[in-house]
Amino acid sequence: MNAIIFGPPGSGKGTYASILEKKLGPVKISTGDIIREEIEKNTELGKKFKDYYDRGELVPDEMVIEALKKRISESDCVEKGFILDGYPRTIPQAEALSKITTIHVIINLNVPDWIIIERLSSRRTCKKCGTNFNIKYLKPKIEGICDKCDGELYQRDDDKPEVIKERIRVYQKQTRPVLEYYKGKMQFVEFECSDPGIPPEENVEKILVELKKLGFYK
Ligand code: ADP
Repeated sequence: MNAIIFGPPGSGKGTYASILEKKLGPVKISTGDIIREEIEKNTELGKKFKDYYDRGELVPDEMVIEALKKRISESDCVEKGFILDGYPRTIPQAEALSKITTIHVIINLNVPDWIIIERLSSRRTCKKCGTNFNIKYLKPKIEGICDKCDGELYQRDDDKPEVIKERIRVYQKQTRPVLEYYKGKMQFVEFECSDPGIPPEENVEKILVELKKLGFYK
C-alpha cells in the first residue's frame, strides 16, 4: 500500500504514520524529518533549507522532490510500500509524485485549529529519533527523555507560537488545494478528530477499520 497521510501541521500525521507503519508494514517517510536531518548535519542542502524552515515557510519544491525521489526508490519502500507524511504540500509536488509512483489511498485528518495550536505549542520532539511527545497529552515516561531511544526531547524551532501561525497560514494557502487535486482520483479515508485527549492508538484503530473496508489489509 502506498498512502499519503494528509492534514494540517499538528494534526497527528507523524504519530499516526509511525503506528500504521508498525501495524501494517509500509515505511513512514516524513519530508519534515528528512529536512531536519539535513539541517542538523549542516549539509549544503541543510543550509539552504534552514531559512525557510525557521520562518515556517515551505522549502522550494525542486529540493524536496529530489530528496523524496531518492527515498522512495530505496529497497524497503519498493518492497513494503510507504506512507508519506508531509508530502505533497503543493500541487507541483503532487504532480511530480504522480510521475514517479502510484498512490493508492489518502488518509485525511480533519482537526480544528484550536487543537492544532494547543498540540504544537506543547509538543516535544526527540533529537535522536524524531518521535513526538506532548507535555499535556502524550507525556514521556521520564520528563525530557524519549521513551524509545533515551534521546533528549526539545521544542522544535518551528513549534514556537509566531511560527505556528505562519505554518497554518501556509497550509491553508498552499497545501489544502492539494486535496482538491486528488478528489476523484483515488480512495479517501476521512478521519475527524475533535478531542485531543483521545490516545493516538485509539484513533489509528478507527483509521484501520476504514482501511480494511477499502481492502487495504485483511
Ligand atoms: P508539520 O507537518 O507539523 O508542519 P513537518 O515536520 O512535516 O511538520 O514540517 C516542518 C517544516 O519542514 C515545514 O514547515 C517546511 O518548512 C518543511 N517541509 C516539510 N515537508 C515539506 C514539503 N513537502 N515541502 C516543502 N517544505 C516542507
